[in-house]
Amino acid sequence: MTMTENAHAGSGAGSADRGGPRTGRRQMLAGAAALGATALAAGAVTATPAAAASGPRTFAAGRPILFRGATVVTMDPRRGVLHDTDVLVHGTDIQAVGKHLPAPHGTTVVDTAGALLLPGFVNTHQHMWQAALRGVGADWTLAQYYNTIIMKWGSLFRPQDIYAANYMAMVESVNDGVTTTMDFSHGLFTPEHADAAVDALFAVPGRARFGYSSLAPDLGWVYDGRVDRMLKERFASSDQLVTMQLAFDMYALTDDARRALKHTRDLGLPLSTHAGLYGFVGDDNIRFLQDNGALSPTTTLVHAATLSDDSYRRIADGGAYISLSAESELNAGQGYPPSGKAREFGIPISLSQDTVIWWSADMFSAMRATLSADRGLAHLQAHQAGKSLSSNALRAQDVLEYATIGGARTLGLDRLIGSITPGKRADLVLLGRSSPAMSVVNNPAGHIVFQAGRGDVDTVLVNGRVLKHRGTLVGVDLQRARHQVQQSLEYLRSKIPAKEWQQAMGE
Ligand SMILES: [Zn+2]
Repeated sequence: MTMTENAHAGSGAGSADRGGPRTGRRQMLAGAAALGATALAAGAVTATPAAAASGPRTFAAGRPILFRGATVVTMDPRRGVLHDTDVLVHGTDIQAVGKHLPAPHGTTVVDTAGALLLPGFVNTHQHMWQAALRGVGADWTLAQYYNTIIMKWGSLFRPQDIYAANYMAMVESVNDGVTTTMDFSHGLFTPEHADAAVDALFAVPGRARFGYSSLAPDLGWVYDGRVDRMLKERFASSDQLVTMQLAFDMYALTDDARRALKHTRDLGLPLSTHAGLYGFVGDDNIRFLQDNGALSPTTTLVHAATLSDDSYRRIADGGAYISLSAESELNAGQGYPPSGKAREFGIPISLSQDTVIWWSADMFSAMRATLSADRGLAHLQAHQAGKSLSSNALRAQDVLEYATIGGARTLGLDRLIGSITPGKRADLVLLGRSSPAMSVVNNPAGHIVFQAGRGDVDTVLVNGRVLKHRGTLVGVDLQRARHQVQQSLEYLRSKIPAKEWQQAMGE
């Protein structure tokens, strides 16, 4: 059944007769029965469709929220999948996970009987600044992307274009259940561009990691005071939804790169870098990172395809992470998605979606592409050896881990997010049951990976705050995002010769 909400209210949430057209009285009564006596006796408030439209009233700050009777896919190895289970959110945190939890006074109870509740997705590599150019490069290779975006169009972006794109990308993430996104922000030429990127990340109440980066040909910006200034002014506290790291690539392994790596280490900042890109960066970079003490658990290697076994061994020894972007690697040609190599050498994996130039922030797609690439290669190799596989090595549960707790570990945030564990922040995604594909759930992890999609993302919480409910964004301004990004696109189109624009999509 769909997420049924009881219209009876202890206080302030309206009456059953005001339930609105989407929920019939019979459904409400069924919902009331499903709630059980505990919640109602405790003076709980239940969410109504009308109240959902004015979400902040029902899901008021400080009011506990109780998800009642869900199939909770915790991604916590000690808990696993819990059927017919309640999750209580209080303040910013997951306070309790269990059966028939009592609802504290004033709790908003959401009947989630049979629906899937999981931790929010974590996307560990997204170039958010490119959101206005969505879909332009659907048919590109990596070389076409590089020659068009990096070498030409990237320099056209003003600070307000960076802001508009980041704002839209944050809204998209929240809407799609991606509660944390690492913004590999390599469109930043000036401190004003960097401020605009950060302003937008803070303007939308999702969780983000600002990956300070630049398209500048050298890495002087890392150690010339710009990064220090940003850290001091905007990231003095780590107790905020947006945190900071560095994100830069090393095409020339020079003293400039050494200095940038040293400054990263001196500041104690994590680093993400594109690694293992066929024809761009390869094994030399892995050795360079290791020689400079930068192949560590605070380093994320994006793609990490096309590398030798020796490099994978070094990565594993150093404890670095791989951000695997299977749709990107398969379409653009950085190299084959290295999930098999990562497993062989014991390297932890997270997933990412790279850029909306081709794809969107769809982590369901990321999980499917990863499984398909891994299994497809394994079957092909078996057939070439005249054999058939009797079972698939990579499981749905594995890629769901990569997309949730794996991402949290990659960003060093697993103490706070990545699983439904009491004491962690309430970054949650509830998948609704209205689509035919969600009508029966036999295999929760497999269902999330292969049956569900972004359209099923019914409710999203970040840091205990409801940002989407019943499929509608709450306190997140999609109209503003649209307006800004359309204006930005208009400006960029005015600067790009029409022929160049047409050619870009026709190539
Ligand atoms: Zn990338």
